[in-house]
Amino acid sequence: MRVPFVDLHSQYLSIKSAIDEAIAGVIAESAFVRGRHVDAFEEAWANTLGVKHCVSCANGTDALYIAMRGLGVKPGDEVITTAHSWISTSETITQAGARVVFCDTDNKTFTLDPGSIESKITHRTVGIIPVHLYGQPADMDPIMSIAKKHNLWVIEDCAQAHLARYGGKLVGTFGNAATFSFYPGKNLGAFGDAGCIITNDDSLADWTTTYARHGGKGEHVIEGINSRLDGLQAAILKVKLPHLPAWTEARRRVASQYDKLFSGIEGLLTPEVAPGRDHVYHLYVIRTDERDALKKHLTDAGISTVLSYPKALPFYPAYAYLAHEPEDFPVAYANQSRILSLPIYPEIGDEMVAYVVDKIAEFHSRLAPVSA
Ligand SMILES: *Cc1c(COP(=O)(O)O)cnc(C)c1O
Repeated sequence: MRVPFVDLHSQYLSIKSAIDEAIAGVIAESAFVRGRHVDAFEEAWANTLGVKHCVSCANGTDALYIAMRGLGVKPGDEVITTAHSWISTSETITQAGARVVFCDTDNKTFTLDPGSIESKITHRTVGIIPVHLYGQPADMDPIMSIAKKHNLWVIEDCAQAHLARYGGKLVGTFGNAATFSFYPGKNLGAFGDAGCIITNDDSLADWTTTYARHGGKGEHVIEGINSRLDGLQAAILKVKLPHLPAWTEARRRVASQYDKLFSGIEGLLTPEVAPGRDHVYHLYVIRTDERDALKKHLTDAGISTVLSYPKALPFYPAYAYLAHEPEDFPVAYANQSRILSLPIYPEIGDEMVAYVVDKIAEFHSRLAPVSA
């Protein structure tokens, strides 16, 4: 049996006629960039989340950059974010002109540890970017109270967390703004790059809309950038959106199958979900000290796995200039060599999940006598 890490084709087949019709419609209208399909998706996504504005843009990375520019980030500012994420979260802080300040993660949830934020705040700090990593919300209550106390903005990076909830409230609705990615493999994915900013702040929505479209159409009130969503992506996302709740439920079902089947395998940690948080399992990440050997064992058995991410951000060459040591981020550092993302997607079959678990159990049973 072969188990791919994701299977975008089977999702396409499950809604093929609606997708094909939507694509043909955009082509027939030549509604390629912006246009009514983009407006319709922006409205639908804002309504789904219960926010006033959805400002679409080219991808989730641009969304972070544009949101920061909209919040007035300037050279000399410092922005605090998690040590463990995809690099978009931190590279955009630098792009916006600020200095990246990393914080360690909470060992249970892999998200920004609120307990380590305050010691990083200086008179230059302007904002915090928590990431709802793997689909589990960051600990938003303490993060928002720290932000309030120190008068900082918060941008939630929701790229992996469409429809996740914290205390019953949708992620993306806590901070001044939030950003989403609709990269093909994300929980809601286009057929190319796509992203957006959401906010309830009218002036932030106005400014980011203008900035992302060359600083205004007709009258260029500022110099902007070109970061637009195209009509094909918007039409595809609009077709997919009504399926998102069922796809999210399917991901949760797969995760609970994994949880159940893994119980009793020693030396393997399954994802923990903190109380009050609804995880949407963009990724299902286990931890084991034998990670590299296990990954090889699974590859040999036809099972694709991924390291998300093989290093915590401060330890990549890109951040060598910050001269961090492992002991600066002990949790993120310890986890980078233990994490392994297993295949999870709505269309994965029960027999595939069982096969993955069997192969992992087989690996651990071989391991047991050696480590005893
Ligand atoms: C995917 C992702 C992004 C960036 O999204 P793109 O659309 O690929 O630019 C940002 N942050 C996180 C945590 C992501 O996983």
